[in-house]
Amino acid sequence: MNIAKVIVDVPSSVVNQTFDYRIPEKFQEMLKPGMRVVIPFGPRKITGFVIKRIHESSYENLREIMDVLDITPVLTDELLQLGRWLAEKTVSLYISTYQAMLPQVLKAKYSKEIIRLTDIPLPNVLEQKLQQKNAISFEEALAVLGSYKNLQYYIEKGDLAVQYVVASKATKRYKTLVYPSSPEHLKEGLKKTNNRAIRQKEILQFFIQHPYPIDQTELYQQLQINRSNLKALIDKELLTLKKVEVYRNPYEEEFKKTKNLQLTDEQELAIRPINNSIENNVHKTFLLYGVTGSGKTEIYLQAIEKVIHKGKEAIVLVPEISLTPQMVKRFKGRFGSNVAVLHSALSVGEKYDEWRKIHRKEVKVVVGARSAIFAPFENLGIIIIDEEHETTYKQEESPRYHARDVAIKRGEYNDCPVILGSATPTLESYARGKKDVYHLLKLTKRTNEKPMPQVDIIDMRKELHEGNRTMFSRALTEKIKACLIKQEQIVLLLNRRGYSTFALCRDCGHVEECPNCDISLTFHKGENALKCHYCGHEQPMPIYCPNCESTSIRFFGTGTERVEEALTKLIPEAKIIRMDVDTTRKKGAHERLLKRFAEKEADILLGTQMIAKGLDFENVTLVGVLAADSMLHLPDFRSSEKTFQLITQVSGRAGRHELTGEVIVQTYTPDHYSIELASKYDFETFFNHEMQIRKTFLYPPYVFLALITISHENEQNVYSVAQQIRSKLENKLHDGSFILGPSPSPIARIKNRYRYQLMIKYRHEPYLQQSINKILEDFQDERRRDLQILIDFNPYQLM
Ligand code: ADP
Ligand code: ZN
Ligand code: ZN
Repeated sequence: MNIAKVIVDVPSSVVNQTFDYRIPEKFQEMLKPGMRVVIPFGPRKITGFVIKRIHESSYENLREIMDVLDITPVLTDELLQLGRWLAEKTVSLYISTYQAMLPQVLKAKYSKEIIRLTDIPLPNVLEQKLQQKNAISFEEALAVLGSYKNLQYYIEKGDLAVQYVVASKATKRYKTLVYPSSPEHLKEGLKKTNNRAIRQKEILQFFIQHPYPIDQTELYQQLQINRSNLKALIDKELLTLKKVEVYRNPYEEEFKKTKNLQLTDEQELAIRPINNSIENNVHKTFLLYGVTGSGKTEIYLQAIEKVIHKGKEAIVLVPEISLTPQMVKRFKGRFGSNVAVLHSALSVGEKYDEWRKIHRKEVKVVVGARSAIFAPFENLGIIIIDEEHETTYKQEESPRYHARDVAIKRGEYNDCPVILGSATPTLESYARGKKDVYHLLKLTKRTNEKPMPQVDIIDMRKELHEGNRTMFSRALTEKIKACLIKQEQIVLLLNRRGYSTFALCRDCGHVEECPNCDISLTFHKGENALKCHYCGHEQPMPIYCPNCESTSIRFFGTGTERVEEALTKLIPEAKIIRMDVDTTRKKGAHERLLKRFAEKEADILLGTQMIAKGLDFENVTLVGVLAADSMLHLPDFRSSEKTFQLITQVSGRAGRHELTGEVIVQTYTPDHYSIELASKYDFETFFNHEMQIRKTFLYPPYVFLALITISHENEQNVYSVAQQIRSKLENKLHDGSFILGPSPSPIARIKNRYRYQLMIKYRHEPYLQQSINKILEDFQDERRRDLQILIDFNPYQLM
């Protein structure tokens, strides 16, 4: 077994396969699949993942592995398999799926150091070296110990540890703890200690009263001693020193312990089949469809508790924007330090810390955004995806995977349940629930027995006809004022999409567009600049129209900034917190703004989608949706579904506690079924209606979609390749599958690249991925000349 199959870090489909390398003597005993290695590749030195060890290679003159980067594997056997499956399913490179599974730090370059963790004697030369310095280089340690195997031995035993020296400060931190020996031993030691050794006696007394490990510096401070005072006691083996890792803790506060709630009858019914699946180690996918506030989270918590009892582990996915301190608190409150949190707002180092807690099996539960689905647990007992309808579960760069598919795959591998929870499930999931592909569980009542808040639809066309030119209906204005008097709070939601502010010349109708992309520029008032949200192009706001030189340039559309301004004019006494991409860019800003609102520093929380989810404020009694239909007219077959989801989700924010809530939805299309049915909380009717439409126009869940986007600077080139792809594919598809296009993408040009798309609609094409892979190979030359072909299965972004 002295040959390793390695996936190399070269982002090219030509090398999307394993390469064989000889394993030199020094690595033979320690090298395992899932470790990263350094190998020669052509003239270069690159990294790769060991997938397998084999006896013989069909190639001759194999080159040798140059270095091994890990002492323990970073990818488990399951993840190695999963990465392979995922790459094939999404037509991505193996290297990109493996990299997607690891924290960023492990992709960077770094050097390694060896430090000691205990006072247990080490081989002589090493002992000397480590007494002179705290850390020695990895290479030096290796030279002293003579082999990788020896080094691995001390590391696995816990005497030594590898420390990564990363340019970004993402290295580990350690503190030294003083461990007392048993109280009997200490008492005996105290008796034997010479009466003049006052310090030693004090220290022993201290530990007899506090029989716990304590931070060395803290002990020095408390007892006013220094290391020399400890030395004699360490020599007598009454105390030992041990270095332990200090994790950077982004959620510093201590969490109050919470207990299981007595489940309601509905909850009891819903959790039973989940518990069965846990007990019997059977994989099943459950769709937990429960209205907002029906106690889905309590079901997650109690199911997880059962899993932990069995000695197994749990993954909980929540959308990035719902991963608030409130949410984290609910899990840490129940499971304490058994919980790791993976969140994109963490620094690189913090993410690495959290990942390592999982890797070292120091935690049993991970709560995180999409990529937490790859947590390297080896004994998974449950996977939960909360708000399963959220589109953030789909990764929009390669590998373009959906976390739900990965979850189900891992559920199968681990024989454990997968729970998809939502108040507004996707049509795909609900249809599967109805066909018993998923096991459907329903919660129809709020746990507080309160009805869902009343939703009023306001026709904004009528407002305009009756002379109200503002963006606030009279009803909404009045209700806001009434709330202010009662000192209750208000949440106002704007849809970011369709809400950008563009500059239009009133004389000639000219709209300033991005010179690189086919899209109008957005006005940013703070900087008095126009910006492109696709390529980042930025230009000062023109004074004269570039087309007709008129000075009548006006802004259209309604950004959050403008709404805030208008609102302040209308109700000057209202204190407003605005939450959008601009005000939440800084780390922790999101949480700070929410905290201020929770502490009633403001009356109104005004923001984009990011305020619609998971927030739970006792004092919010009014929710306003400013233009519910701004999403309806996008070229996206999911626009009705998304509108329904959004209105339902925000309505769930009002009146969750003692006070009753009210919702106002302003719209120009009050008769649209998604708005009307959402205001009645009638998901079932919405589902049936929308399914009819999907059936008629052949959209998911009646078919699967694959979107191929081709782009290049030369439009003719793009069109011609798109045509060729179409005819190559046509030959391979079965009856009942078809291809739409090539047609220009809804945004026909981005960053000076022309974009055309092909949409494949199909029901059953088991070889589609292979066919597409073959086509990618056929166009290798074009792709080398900067032609891009993007493949997106089950696409969410159709632009
Ligand atoms: P969901 O996740 O479905 O929106 P939550 O789990 O947040 O609902 O529950 C809403 C509220 O009801 C929370 O404040 C929660 O503590 C409370 N709750 C949940 N289950 C129970 C129960 N069995 N008894 C009493 N209160 C409950
Ligand atoms: Zn003009
Ligand atoms: Zn642009």
